[in-house]
Amino acid sequence: MTLRPILIHPDPRLKKACPPVTEITDDLMQAAEDMLETMYDAPGVGLAAPQVGLLARMFVMDCVKDPEAAPRPMVLINPAVTWTSAETNVYEEGCLSIPEQYAEVTRPAEVRVRWTGLDGKEQEEHFTGLWATCAQHEIDHLDGKLFIDYLSPLKRQLITRKMEKLKRDRARG
Ligand code: ZN
Repeated sequence: MTLRPILIHPDPRLKKACPPVTEITDDLMQAAEDMLETMYDAPGVGLAAPQVGLLARMFVMDCVKDPEAAPRPMVLINPAVTWTSAETNVYEEGCLSIPEQYAEVTRPAEVRVRWTGLDGKEQEEHFTGLWATCAQHEIDHLDGKLFIDYLSPLKRQLITRKMEKLKRDRARG
């Protein structure tokens, strides 16, 4: 397994709608493993393929926050939300592509998601709590949407400027 560099906003690859996965190749399985390792290393609870420059509808997540509990690494290919609750939830979101910036985002509190697993089998699950927020945040990535797109233009611009500066500073070393 290899850690893959995470793209930092703004980056045109983070704004693209990703095409569906048509075949589960060895390369894709390798990418999924690498993404999980990269996510745990960051650390984060979710990571979408475009965040590592792979334009494909796939993301990984593990929202088990209790260090005593067993991890639950999940790989979701071609995920689709099939049901959302009317009830909403406000969560202070962050993103590995927008380091150290957090803001409250309102989303449906619960969702059902259908996806294809690495074994090629279709699965469906009802997510609540952080799992529901994370799944929606990651599916947004596959449509070229970031959590800051839910904020006011002013807040979004402020965060984007900070990220541009961060990238300039990193480029200088
Ligand atoms: Zn994100």
